[in-house]
Amino acid sequence: MASSPAFNPALEALQCHDCGASCDLGQPRNVCPACGRPLVARYDLARVQREVTRETLHRHGTDLWRYRAVLPFAPDFAAVRLGEGGTPLLPLTRLGPDLGLAELWIKEESGNPTGSFKARGLALAVNGALAFGVRGIALPSAGNAGSAAAAYAAAAGLPCRVAVPDDTPEAFVLEARAFGAEVRLVRGTIADAGRAIAEWAPAPQWWNVATFKEPFRLEGKKTLGYEIAEQLGWRLPDVILYPTGGGTGLVGMHRAFAELAALGWTDGEEPRLVAVQVAGCAPIVRAYDAGAARAESWANAATVASGLRVPSPFADTLILEAVRASRGLAIAVSEDDLLDAMNDLAQLEGLFACPEGAATLAALRQLRRSGEIAAGARIVIYDTGSGLKYPEAWRAALARRAPGVEALR
Ligand SMILES: *Cc1c(COP(=O)(O)O)cnc(C)c1O
Repeated sequence: MASSPAFNPALEALQCHDCGASCDLGQPRNVCPACGRPLVARYDLARVQREVTRETLHRHGTDLWRYRAVLPFAPDFAAVRLGEGGTPLLPLTRLGPDLGLAELWIKEESGNPTGSFKARGLALAVNGALAFGVRGIALPSAGNAGSAAAAYAAAAGLPCRVAVPDDTPEAFVLEARAFGAEVRLVRGTIADAGRAIAEWAPAPQWWNVATFKEPFRLEGKKTLGYEIAEQLGWRLPDVILYPTGGGTGLVGMHRAFAELAALGWTDGEEPRLVAVQVAGCAPIVRAYDAGAARAESWANAATVASGLRVPSPFADTLILEAVRASRGLAIAVSEDDLLDAMNDLAQLEGLFACPEGAATLAALRQLRRSGEIAAGARIVIYDTGSGLKYPEAWRAALARRAPGVEALR
C-alpha cells in the first residue's frame, strides 16, 4: 500500500526485479536496498480492472496520462506535464510492401517534448521527485535524457545537474543549458559520466534519475506498450524492434504487455521483442548470443547513435529476460546500414529520423533477409527521436547518397 497521498492507491510496492525484495514508498527510493538492483512498480491490477476499462481511457486525454490508472501517482496529484506521449503509430506504406510485410508501422516519437521519447520517462521521474519531496535531480546522459530531465526540472522548479560525454552533439548541451540545468562535459562514455554524477551530485540532496537507478522512468516508458496496443485496436503486433541502450523502453513494453494480459485488455501472445544495437556497442547482443544472464562491459564503444552508446547497461538482467521471455532476439547492425536506413526513412517515407531509430529499420532488413521474420508478419519499428539534433550523423548519411554534400556545407 502506498504511504503518501501523492501515490496511486493501486501501487502496492516497489519490488526488486532480481532478488524479489519489496519496499514501500515512504521515502525516496532509487535501487533495491537489499541487493542494489533495479526496482519495479507493482500494482493491484484487480483493483485497476474494477476502476477503469478500455472504454473509459479517453476521459484522461490523449497524452500518456491517459493510462494514469497504471501510473504511480494518485488521481488528484497535480502532475507537471508538457504533452508527453500520445504519439502517432504511422503505417510505412512504401517500405512495408518493399520488405514483403503485411503491416509495417513506425512508432514516431519525435513529437514528444524535447524531441525524443526520453520525455516519457523523465516526466515520470521528475513527478516522482515531487511526490517524494526531493529537492533536486541529477543524471548522466548521452544527450536526450539530459535535455528531457532539464525541461521537466525547469517546469517543476527543481535544480538539475547533467553529466554528458564530451563528444555529445552540441545541440543536446545547449538545450539542457537553455532549461537552466548545470551541464558538465566528461571525457569517456556515459559510464564515466555516471561516475562523475555520483561525486558531483551526491544523495540525499540530489536524487539520481539515471536509467533504472529509480523506478519511475520505467513506468513512463511502459506507456509505449499501452499506446501501441490501443492504436492497433488491442490486436498486438507479431514483432517489435526497439533500439536498445539502457533498455527502459524494451523492459517497459514487456511489463505493459504483462499488465495488459492480466487486465484482460489484450489476448494472444506477447509480441517478440527484438533488442536492436549497433556493431560499435552491442553488449546485450553478445550476452544474448552467449546465453548469458548478465552483459559484460563493451570496450571502446563507438557509434553515431549516441543513445545506443551504453557499454554496460545497468538493467542487463531485465533486458535479457524481456527478450527471451517474449521469444525475441538481440541483433547488431553496422554503422553503414544504419546510415542507409536514415536515408530510406527520409526519402521513402518523409521521416527525418534519429540514427537510433533508423537502426530498427536496418535490423528489420537483416531479419527479413535471414528469414527470421516471415513475409506477411505484422511489425512495429521505432523512431525514438528527431534527427535534428544529429548533424554529424546526417552529414555522414547524406555523404553516402550524394558524394560532395560535405563540400556544400
Ligand atoms: C536513449 C535513447 C535510446 C535508447 O533507449 P533505452 O530505453 O535507454 O534503451 C534510443 N533512441 C534515442 C533517440 C535515445 O535517446
